[in-house]
Amino acid sequence: MGQDGKILCHECGAKFWGLIGGGDVSDVLRCLRCDDTQLVDAKFSREDFKFPCKDCGGPMRSGMTPRCPKCGSRETAMFLPQVFWE
Ligand SMILES: [Zn+2]
Ligand SMILES: [Zn+2]
Repeated sequence: MGQDGKILCHECGAKFWGLIGGGDVSDVLRCLRCDDTQLVDAKFSREDFKFPCKDCGGPMRSGMTPRCPKCGSRETAMFLPQVFWE
C-alpha cells in the first residue's frame, strides 16, 4: 500500500507533498539522483535496477523516503496521509 500526503523533513522542518510506500499490487521506485518517482507493478520492485530514471537515467530503488526539496535530506516521514492506494 502507498500513500500520497504531506511529508515532514526532520532536518529542517520543511513540509512538502510527496508519495511514499509500496505494497502487494504496486510499488514506488525513487531515483537516487534526482528523486523522481515511478510507479511499477510490485512484482518488479525487487528488480528495480531494471528501471533507470526516465529523467536522468539514474538508479531507481524501492523503499526510499522522499528527499527534502529544501535541504536535500532523506530524514523525512509522512505526517498527514491524504490518499491511500493499493
Ligand atoms: Zn533521476
Ligand atoms: Zn529539509
